[in-house]
Amino acid sequence: MGKPRVAIFDFACCEGCQLQIANLDEDLLNLIELVEPVEWREAMSEKAGQIDVAIVEGSITRAEDEQRLKEIRQRAEILMALGSCATHGGVNKLRNRVPLEEAQRIVYGASAGMPHLQSGQVKAVHEVVPVDLKIYGCPIEITEFSRIIRELAAGRTPFVPNYPVCVECKLRENVCRYEYNEICLGPVTRAGCNARCPSNGMWCFGCRGPVDHPNINAAYDVMAKYGKTVEDLVGKLELFCSGEERIRG
Ligand code: SF4
Ligand code: SF4
Ligand code: SF4
Repeated sequence: MGKPRVAIFDFACCEGCQLQIANLDEDLLNLIELVEPVEWREAMSEKAGQIDVAIVEGSITRAEDEQRLKEIRQRAEILMALGSCATHGGVNKLRNRVPLEEAQRIVYGASAGMPHLQSGQVKAVHEVVPVDLKIYGCPIEITEFSRIIRELAAGRTPFVPNYPVCVECKLRENVCRYEYNEICLGPVTRAGCNARCPSNGMWCFGCRGPVDHPNINAAYDVMAKYGKTVEDLVGKLELFCSGEERIRG
């Protein structure tokens, strides 16, 4: 079997997750030994036909984007959502919390009515087409990306953590941010970043989104121990759509 044909596509986002791929530096050359890049707007001008793995970055905000994504889905054996914008809608989805006209007025002021600014509700990729695999984070972790591409190239089902950031945080022997009278979303957020933020003196703000089955009771216990309530968490949960409804049960 030849090398898997891989293409990268972007929608509404800052392209920071693609930048992370570029940040692989020499390891990018190692990955190209395993897979064949056949379409990537940021790095090449070629266009591909059928592809084995479509990597989709960004959230979906316009009807024409939905149509383009559906066409990509038809061309691809495996479709991977890359980064928080793609897996959850990311920070873009904050826009859904106010009417579009209001969001446009806040951001663009007098230019708000310009036709190219028209768009619909922000959607994650899986809200438009079936997604086979998600790489979480804002931005993604380059080591996780590299490992997952290697596992795909070897024909294996990639491992994606489904336990909370607290597990990795405890393994790194960090002092819990609650001890500093802070709020941390680690108890309900999907691990895989090696507790990047708590390990660098910052609370977790949930960029990887919620674990599938967060231990809500344990999260309540942690908050109660430090005199915090769900209300203290809500604003932070909104940033990355980390599932306020899951916390409230
Ligand atoms: S997930 Fe974050 S870093 Fe990645 S494209 Fe979206 S905003 Fe940028
Ligand atoms: S709540 Fe935050 S700081 Fe505390 S253990 Fe969990 S991830 Fe670490
Ligand atoms: S600690 Fe939380 S906010 Fe920081 S990278 Fe990990 S999941 Fe994202």
